[in-house]
Amino acid sequence: MKIICIGRNYIDHVKELNNTVTDDPIFFLKPETAIQPRGHPFFIPDFTNNVHYEVELVLKINKAGKYIEEKFANRYYSEIGLGIDFTARDIQEHCKSNGLPWEKAKGFDGSAQISNTFINKYEIDINNISFSLLKNNKQVQLGNSSQMIFNFDKIISYVSKYCSLKIGDLIYTGTPSGVSNIEKGDILKGFIYEKEMLNVIIK
Ligand code: MG
Repeated sequence: MKIICIGRNYIDHVKELNNTVTDDPIFFLKPETAIQPRGHPFFIPDFTNNVHYEVELVLKINKAGKYIEEKFANRYYSEIGLGIDFTARDIQEHCKSNGLPWEKAKGFDGSAQISNTFINKYEIDINNISFSLLKNNKQVQLGNSSQMIFNFDKIISYVSKYCSLKIGDLIYTGTPSGVSNIEKGDILKGFIYEKEMLNVIIK
């Protein structure tokens, strides 16, 4: 099982980090150990002073494939969940400015939060999925799948050119604007529409 994450997929988020929009999707991987065990709080690692939340829609792959054509990509997932791509922003900035890989900033234990439940894609309009993140009951991020630069089908098609997809793989599809840091004692709650999907205590 692998975790694939798409970067820079919402224009407002690209701008807030002073990045540029790319012609093709950007993706990176997190290891399986990045998944937070169910019900556990998230402990801020001691090697960073600036962990950011990034709330994202997550596709669960339900069929193996490679070189998937865009027109068939929707056959490769049936459920959508919500996740947080925790990022050690200070380390990521250091890696970026030195041309180094991002794993230290993106792949640490607990950096991939994932909802317990997933939503059947046939029950919603996948091109109009509203999702949000609340920090201490105040909304800090609000996105909609309609705002993605690369949609789900494009992402699956593109990524599967390079990495075969297997059943159970997760694809984090990028975060909207509003990313910021967390502190001990914060509580993050994630929603798809009005449905609470995630509840993470920061320690
Ligand atoms: Mg992200």
